[in-house]
Amino acid sequence: MAEFDLTDDSVVVVIGSGAGGGTLSNELAQRGIKVVCLEAGKRLKPNDIVNDEAVMSERLTWFDRRKGTGIANAQFPVWTCKTVGGTTMHWTASCPRMQAHEFRAKSTYGMIDNTNLVDWPLEPLEIAPYYERAEYKMGVTGTHGIERLPGNNNYKVLEAGARALGYQQIDTNNVAINSRPRDGRPSCLQLGFCTSGCVVQAKWSTLYTEIRSAEATKYFELRPESMAVRINHTGQGRVNSVDYRDASGQIHTQKARLVCVAGNAVETTRLLLNSHSPEFPNGLANSSDQVGRNYMRHFALPIIGLMPGPVNMHRGTHQAGIIKDERHHDPNRGFSGGFLFLTVPFTPEIIGKIVLRDKWGDELAQIMSRYDHMAAMLVHGEDLPQATNRITLHPSEKDENGLPVPLIHYQDHPNTQRMKNYARDKGVAIYRALGAHQVFAPEDVFPATHNMGVARIGRNPADSVCNPWGQTHDVANLFISDGSLLPTVGCENPTLTIVALILRQADYIDQLLKKGVL
Ligand SMILES: Cc1cc2nc3c(=O)[nH]c(=O)nc-3n(C[C@H](O)[C@H](O)[C@H](O)COP(=O)(O)OP(=O)(O)OC[C@H]3O[C@@H](n4cnc5c(N)ncnc54)[C@H](O)[C@@H]3O)c2cc1C
Ligand code: SF4
Repeated sequence: MAEFDLTDDSVVVVIGSGAGGGTLSNELAQRGIKVVCLEAGKRLKPNDIVNDEAVMSERLTWFDRRKGTGIANAQFPVWTCKTVGGTTMHWTASCPRMQAHEFRAKSTYGMIDNTNLVDWPLEPLEIAPYYERAEYKMGVTGTHGIERLPGNNNYKVLEAGARALGYQQIDTNNVAINSRPRDGRPSCLQLGFCTSGCVVQAKWSTLYTEIRSAEATKYFELRPESMAVRINHTGQGRVNSVDYRDASGQIHTQKARLVCVAGNAVETTRLLLNSHSPEFPNGLANSSDQVGRNYMRHFALPIIGLMPGPVNMHRGTHQAGIIKDERHHDPNRGFSGGFLFLTVPFTPEIIGKIVLRDKWGDELAQIMSRYDHMAAMLVHGEDLPQATNRITLHPSEKDENGLPVPLIHYQDHPNTQRMKNYARDKGVAIYRALGAHQVFAPEDVFPATHNMGVARIGRNPADSVCNPWGQTHDVANLFISDGSLLPTVGCENPTLTIVALILRQADYIDQLLKKGVL
C-alpha cells in the first residue's frame, strides 16, 4: 500500500470505503490515479470476523447517535456499518437490476401529490453496460454464466407458497455470493451468517475485493479510524482539503485535488451540511437546498409463518430466494410502483426484540419454542421522493466528534401505505397457502437498511445536487459517490445500481483528469 503526504494536493480523497467509496477507490487506483481513502471505522482482520451475529453487530454497526422523527425507530433509525468495507460487511448481497420503467418514474407514474418525482437523467440503455460490468466485478449469480446458488428450506417454502398463489417469477435470486470459487475467494458454504461478514469471504464485500485490489497498486492508501469532519474549499469555489479526526482524536488536514463523498446517505448529508462556510451558508454543494431532501428508504415488512413442519430457515444464505411477480407498475392495485418478496432468516434475538416486540412472556416463549418451524421473508417496495423526508442537523446535540447529531425525518407517503397493505396481504397468503399454523405480519419496524436519494443526480441545478455523473453542480471537483445519488429508487435492493453508477463515475473522473479539466 502506498503512503501519501498530508500536503500532497495531487491525491483524490475518497470518504468512506463501502460499496460506493471502496469501488471508486479501486477503480481510480487501477487507472494510476492516487487515492487516499478516509474510513471512520476500524479495519477488521480475518480472525476478527466470526460466525456470531451479536459479536459482529458490535464490531460492524454504526452506533454513533442518530435521531429519527416520524418513524418507528427513533433512537436507531438507520442501520449502516462503521468499518472498512462499510455496509457491504453486513449486507446480504441481493443484486437485482432496476427495471426500465423505474428510471422514468415521473413519466410512468404521472404526477403524484406531495412527491418530488423525477425521471433519471440517464436512459436505461446508458446504464446497462455498467450493470454488466458491476455484475461481473461482483460475481453476481445468474449473470455472465455464473450459476445460481441452490435453494435452502426457507426458499423452498417461499417458492411452493408462491406457486400455490399463481406467481411464476421465482428463483434463488441474483446474489453477489460465489457459487463457485472465483476472484481468489471460495464458494458459499451455506453457513447462514451472511450479515456477520461471511468468514470465508464468499460474499462480495469491498474489504475482501476492492480494497485488496486497490492495495495491490502503488496508488492507494487506506486510513482507517479516520472520520472526515469537514471539507474545506478555496475562495474560487473548489474543494482543496479534508479535515479528519484520527483514533486518538487528533485532527489532520489532507490536501486534495478532488474529493468524493461516499459516507452513505446520512453521513454524506451530515458532512456536506457541516462543511458550510460564508460562500456556502446552507452547506457545501447545497445552493439548491436539496442536500438531505428526498431521503428514500425501501420499506421492509417482516412476515413470519409458523409452518406445519420444520424449516430451519437459519440454514443457508440469507438471500435464498426472490419473487418478482409484483414488481411491475399496475395502478389497478391502488398504488404506483411495485415490490419484491425476499427470504430472510431472522435470528431469535431479532424476532424477540424487533419483529414480535409486542409479544411477551408465555405467548412469546410458545412462539419461540417453534423457531425451527418458522419460514420468513421481507417485503421491499418502491419509495417515492418527498422534499419533507429529510436529513438535517440537530440544533444542539453533538456526538463524540463534536459534530451535530443527524436528524432523520421520514414519513410514509400514502402510496407507500397502500402498497404495504396490499403487499402484506399477499405475503401472508403465501404462507397460509401451505397451511401455516400462524402468520405474523407486524408493522414495518426495522431501521432502514437501504438509504438513498439525498444528493440526487439531475440536469437541473435547481432541483438536484449532482450532474448525471455525480459531480456536484456547485463545486466542480466535489463528487458524491454513494446511494445518495439515486433520484428514484425502484423496488430493487440498491447496491448493484450504486456500483454501476460508480463505475460510470470512475470513467468520467478519469476522462476529466486526463483532459486536465480537474
Ligand atoms: C443488514 C443489511 C442487509 C443489506 N442487504 C442488502 C442486499 O441484500 N442488497 C443490497 O443491494 N443492499 C443491501 N443492503 C444495503 C447496502 O449495504 C447499502 O446499499 C450499501 O452498502 C450502500 O453503500 P454506500 O457506499 O452508500 O455506503 P456504505 O457501504 O455504508 O459505506 C459508507 C462508509 O463510509 C464510512 N463513513 C461514513 N461517514 C464517514 C466520514 N465522515 N468519514 C469517514 N468515513 C465515513 C462508513 O464508516 C462506511 O464504511 C443491506 C444493508 C444492511 C444493513
Ligand atoms: S451462507 Fe454463504 S455467503 Fe452467507 S456467510 Fe455462509 S458462506 Fe458466506
